[in-house]
Amino acid sequence: MLLHTISEVREQIKKWKKEGLTIGLVPTMGALHAGHLSLIKKSVEKCDRTVVSVFVNPIQFCPGEDLDKYPRTLEADEKLCAEAGVNIVFAPSPKEMYGEGHILSNDFLTYVIPPYFYTDKLCGKSRVGHFDGVCTVVNKLFNIVQPDYAFFGQKDAQQLIIIKKMVKDLNIPVEIIPCPIVREESGLALSSRNKYLSESDKKEALALSKILFNIKACYDKGITDVKALTETAYSFLNGHHSLEYLEFRDKDNLEEKNVADCNTQVFIALKIGNVRLIDNILLG
Ligand code: AMP
Repeated sequence: MLLHTISEVREQIKKWKKEGLTIGLVPTMGALHAGHLSLIKKSVEKCDRTVVSVFVNPIQFCPGEDLDKYPRTLEADEKLCAEAGVNIVFAPSPKEMYGEGHILSNDFLTYVIPPYFYTDKLCGKSRVGHFDGVCTVVNKLFNIVQPDYAFFGQKDAQQLIIIKKMVKDLNIPVEIIPCPIVREESGLALSSRNKYLSESDKKEALALSKILFNIKACYDKGITDVKALTETAYSFLNGHHSLEYLEFRDKDNLEEKNVADCNTQVFIALKIGNVRLIDNILLG
């Protein structure tokens, strides 16, 4: 069932709650691929009812980012969701979510702002305000859908860590279920933004997973010095890529690591042409 308004969703949720059914929520920006479908499958297995939100959230895009050209494929998304056993596809308009004048006038919106320590690094460094937009919309979705479980991909690991922190700090009654990264056979992590890549860009993009897999292999051989592990990465970079970051951090609180251990997560962001891609791997 495709619903566009908050009131329609609430009405349906009320009925399900009355029946004592468990509800799973999978928040997405649409252009669904096998990565999203893995989250959806988990929700359908675990919960009595599954809601997938499809919303390109304007307030998590920074000026100059790809808000306007972000792929929008609602018809195909709805079909995939129906095949996967989803009960509601919630696809609100920006106006439905934020009311009039939301984009130019953030001053008139109540935001959920995660701690600066979590947002001043990695993606948050170049995407200032991004995680404020993410936490605000996810909080709104939690309030609208009131899920028992919400499913998030490890692909966006910083986002997942921040959402877990928000849920804990604000006592939100939902259990966050992390889901592993789905990759192409080549190693490339699936992403809606891969649609922007040409065939040759796609080959270049393999640098991300190659770097991460190589670091993991070196760690598994016993190398734990982060400087040494970082150096192994540079052999995979050539003039075509611009590395935005390659960082070793704690998987729960994002503290920097100088010596890698089983709680270390390696985060990478690379620009291939104009497309910014991210990936990560847990060493433990
Ligand atoms: P997005 O539509 O990009 O906002 O992603 C919606 C959800 O799908 C987020 O929780 C992402 O982490 C997750 N996701 C996106 N790509 C993948 C992937 N390749 N593997 C696992 N989860 C993913």
